[in-house]
Amino acid sequence: APSIVWLRRDLRLADQAALLAAAQEGPVIPVYVLDDETPRNFRMGAASRWWLHHSLACLDRQLRGIGSRLILRRGKCHEELAAIRRETGARTVHALHHYEPWWRNAESAVAKTFRLHLHDGNYLAPPGSILTGSGSPYKIYTPFWNALRERMPPAPPTPEPTSLEAPEVWPRSDNLEDWGLIPATPDWASGFREEWTPGEVGACERLQDFAGRAGGYANFRNLPSDDCTSRLSPHLHFGEMSPATVWQSVADAGGSVEVFLGELGWRDYAQTVIIQFPEYGSRNAREAYDSLNWQTDRVSLLAWQQGRTGYPIVDAGMRELWHTGWMHNRVRMIAASFLVKHLLIDWREGERWFWDTLVDADYGSNAVNWQWTAGTGVDSNMFVRIMAPLTQSPKFDAADYIRRWVPELAHLSDRDIHDPAVPPTGYPAKIVDHAAARARALAAHDRMKHG
Ligand code: FAD
Repeated sequence: APSIVWLRRDLRLADQAALLAAAQEGPVIPVYVLDDETPRNFRMGAASRWWLHHSLACLDRQLRGIGSRLILRRGKCHEELAAIRRETGARTVHALHHYEPWWRNAESAVAKTFRLHLHDGNYLAPPGSILTGSGSPYKIYTPFWNALRERMPPAPPTPEPTSLEAPEVWPRSDNLEDWGLIPATPDWASGFREEWTPGEVGACERLQDFAGRAGGYANFRNLPSDDCTSRLSPHLHFGEMSPATVWQSVADAGGSVEVFLGELGWRDYAQTVIIQFPEYGSRNAREAYDSLNWQTDRVSLLAWQQGRTGYPIVDAGMRELWHTGWMHNRVRMIAASFLVKHLLIDWREGERWFWDTLVDADYGSNAVNWQWTAGTGVDSNMFVRIMAPLTQSPKFDAADYIRRWVPELAHLSDRDIHDPAVPPTGYPAKIVDHAAARARALAAHDRMKHG
């Protein structure tokens, strides 16, 4: 009987242990199920759906090149896989491990009807396997990274299969175009198309380009005008390349790449956190923050989402996000901190917006970084450390970045652009005053602490 390869966020042929194991057993049925029910509130957002469409199209082309094809189904994963079993007689499912709580539930459901084999390979090391001396998982990034680093480099990536045996009968497949994953009108994805090539082929090109310049990463990664980070995050999120492949290419390129590898370590760390705290994406790890006087302020939330806060660096970031589905990490921190502290809006509102608009929206990474910024997480910046956007902006030389994303300010000098004395026509005045917002946040924190 054929084996099913159940693809989720692992849309690649190379270094794909599930595909390799299934191919060794005989005929293979590669399947992607679009399941909008199982993840409940974490149904894939609009930007991710755009990415998914193109990534699936690429994977199908690649599979056809090696004598196979991609079967598309829509519905609850375990029900669709069970239907494929009836159509084809498949009894075995191979998949890679995923750690989002809903995927772990779905795996239990699939294991009731199939021999389910889960393989590693979407993280540098299996997230549950990096343990402290006393045998428990880490909660804090730095000791986690030190322990993970000791186990590196990862096993060398395996090559992609050169052919796959087809089953006697193919199960029914949906038509990708019928899933409506890409916007019709209004077409908000033109900036996405300019910026990205989803799929394994685009991922490899991006990696090759980055590996050649990874040596500059440590010095320039915090400068949003400098476009020197890898932009591999959506490719890694959708598993279009394995982190072992990234590690190997970057390490082989030589130079000082330790800082970059440490950032890749954050991706693994986020999984360790969500294994221990499955609800990290929707609950404060420090429960005291439940009682902070968070504001329900729709007007300010909208201004933040639309990049109209009057703080140029925040607005540039939020507009970059809307236009391309991605935002520079330093600016993500500034914009997130602004929402939580200057506007005193619960981080979960920001998490929701990022979930819908990021092409790299990732349950673990998004939640861990939001809770880190907000001060509510297990390993966090302190709430009372309030980032000053108007200081951060010149410090990280963001003038050209602001010019690119906030054209109303493009004519201003490098000195004035971070904080225009008089906002030019068409650009909003600041929606909150920095000093007053800071004082309000500190007072709210103080009240929370002292009841
Ligand atoms: P590079 O700097 O080139 O880093 C290489 C890779 O390492 C990235 O592609 C990513 O996979 C990983 N990485 C780097 N920094 C982090 C980090 N802090 N946490 C986890 N992984 C990291 N990243 C996501 O992938 N998905 C998210 O949903 C997400 N949400 C975020 C929300 C907030 C509020 C903040 C502050 C950060 C968030 N990040 C998220 C982390 C980080 O901003 C992005 O991973 C990074 O900007 C992606 O760009 P890059 O690929 O050029 O990264």
